[in-house]
Amino acid sequence: MPAGFPDFRLGSVLATSFTATLTERRGDALERIPVPQRLVDWLVVSGLDVGSCTDDQLALARELRESIHAAATAAATGEALPVAAVRVINDRSARGRAAAVLTPEGERRWRLGPDSALEDALGVIAADAIDILSGERDGKLALCASPTCRAAFFDTSQSRTRRWCDMGTCGNRHKKARFHRKNAVSP
Ligand SMILES: [Zn+2]
Repeated sequence: MPAGFPDFRLGSVLATSFTATLTERRGDALERIPVPQRLVDWLVVSGLDVGSCTDDQLALARELRESIHAAATAAATGEALPVAAVRVINDRSARGRAAAVLTPEGERRWRLGPDSALEDALGVIAADAIDILSGERDGKLALCASPTCRAAFFDTSQSRTRRWCDMGTCGNRHKKARFHRKNAVSP
């Protein structure tokens, strides 16, 4: 990882892992893909090796990211999906031409076109977003309980009562704050 850039918050769901490249949206927002190369890095660790990325393509990716975030937030709170966001997600999905291929080991890989790798990768992410927004996948969209985060995440826990986008960051911070509050009060 190149020095000087914030690390990634990787989750197991591609679409919400992607929206987590911008964190603390309600606090001190932190952009984790500030330059095209960082988007390339994120895509590589997410199984989408695009090779390169331009400034314009980074802008396209961020537009998709914010559209997924807006739609997922609406879905999590039971509101109507924003029309503009749905249009962007559908556009990106329709333009992607990635092929899912099976390795001899039985794993899925994405084959991206040599001249359209970035667009194909965004198509895969958009299709993943459609999966979770449409209820095609087992789980429920929810918002992180942290007031400075409020990230949308996909809750696949049995009880559907997960509160944090990420236990290691938002969940842990909450636990520590509670510990400090408890210990500050003298009996
Ligand atoms: Zn969070």
